[in-house]
Amino acid sequence: MFTSIDPATGQPGASIPELTAAELEEKIARAETAYRAWRTTSLDERTALLERIAEQFDANTRELAEIATREMGKTLKSAIAEVQKCAAAFRHYAQQGPAMLAPTRLDTPTGPAITRWLPLGPVLAVMPWNFPYWQVVRFAAPTILAGNVGLLKHASLTQGCGAAIERTIVAAGAPAGLFQNLAIRSDKVDALIADPRIVAVTLTGSEGAGIKVAEAAGRNLKKVVLELGGSDPFIVMPSADLDEAVKQAVTARVQNSGQSCICGKRMIVHADVYDAFMENFSAAMRAVKAGDPMDAGSDMGPLSSEEQRQTTLDQLAAIQAAGGRLLFGGEALPGKGAYMSAGVLVDVPIDHPAAQEELFGPVAMVFRAADIDAAIALANDVPFGLGSSVWTNDAAERARFERDIEAGMVAVNAMLASTPEAPFGGIKRSGYGRELGPYGLHEFMNLKTVFG
Ligand code: NAP
Repeated sequence: MFTSIDPATGQPGASIPELTAAELEEKIARAETAYRAWRTTSLDERTALLERIAEQFDANTRELAEIATREMGKTLKSAIAEVQKCAAAFRHYAQQGPAMLAPTRLDTPTGPAITRWLPLGPVLAVMPWNFPYWQVVRFAAPTILAGNVGLLKHASLTQGCGAAIERTIVAAGAPAGLFQNLAIRSDKVDALIADPRIVAVTLTGSEGAGIKVAEAAGRNLKKVVLELGGSDPFIVMPSADLDEAVKQAVTARVQNSGQSCICGKRMIVHADVYDAFMENFSAAMRAVKAGDPMDAGSDMGPLSSEEQRQTTLDQLAAIQAAGGRLLFGGEALPGKGAYMSAGVLVDVPIDHPAAQEELFGPVAMVFRAADIDAAIALANDVPFGLGSSVWTNDAAERARFERDIEAGMVAVNAMLASTPEAPFGGIKRSGYGRELGPYGLHEFMNLKTVFG
């Protein structure tokens, strides 16, 4: 049984039985059968289904959002926004997707050729709990449009969300087996990747899980996309709008209780504006209210579990032992629930192993940089390369950041956020491959060249 524990109260919620070996086999066989039919459907049929799925997400927004809040503690208002974003992603691929699959005509020495985008088969998605709908939908929407079928192994914490996604897609009229939730533990993933009926795998999660999945995919010569962790820099230069930078830095660091792969985790501030930034940023971080995620007045809910909070507290202790100074916050709040306060760390020795890890909780590390070279060096001095946010109104500085920051994404004068239109993904130990936009759609397709 997967039994969810509400991290706001510590109380157990719904239980979902783990699939037996026979049930799992039945679902894989159903996926293969569904693929044989779905691969031949027209784009019109696929886009009509995507539109109906979007309607189902819209019609059930509140119910879906409440499941996420109870399972992993995000505020209800942010869960509602997440479900709405899912509907927008299904509509995006319904409306813009067919153009991304248009054939290309080529001239070759032996005559004309065309390239066609064709599906590959059942794709396995291994997904995390932190954005339990959005992470899955950015896989599911392009999968359905491509003519593939989806199998989901969701995080143990968010099995209710996984089941709800399958229900929502089925309620929209998806054929049996087109998208199935597999209530299984991670020890079953290896065998699924080895199963010849599953053609590819995508994982969003931690570095450790990424390594395991990539190893299994490599052994079986299967395509894999990895969306892993990050320790994104948030760089503030003197020419920036400081008030706006401070406001967005706080939102970036405490959204989802600090548990977002692309939230700014390391604030790197030019020496000329460091003191002013720190004064305003510290005041705003102190004012962040952790409270009941169902309450519209809470800025953040609890962390996703007691274990996640303990991991964050242990990381903070290790950084402090290495010389980092916790100015305030970063503490477990007394009483029930996995709550902790927002905090600020300074004097962090960035080359210490503890500071090189992803800090998945609402505590910002703040660094002072003497100039742009120092800021970029600090930004790049971690193993990750997912996103970044840079604040400057100087064209030359902007060009340097665009060129030199080692990351898959740079947001200029904005907090980085994913959107269905734009490719999303990282470099270095943040993984490889892209989701969203045309690139995400193409990752699991066969680009077939037809000569003649
Ligand atoms: P996680 O522990 O790595 O889990 C992610 C998924 O992988 C879960 O379904 C998990 O199942 C499964 N898993 C864990 N170990 C596995 C293994 N050895 N073999 C196969 N599957 C395995 O990550 P999380 O704690 O859920 O999520 C937080 C992490 O995800 C953070 O590092 C965050 O930065 C990253 N993330 C990245 C992105 C991105 O787009 N780059 C987006 C969101 C989150 P169980 O739950 O059953 O263990």
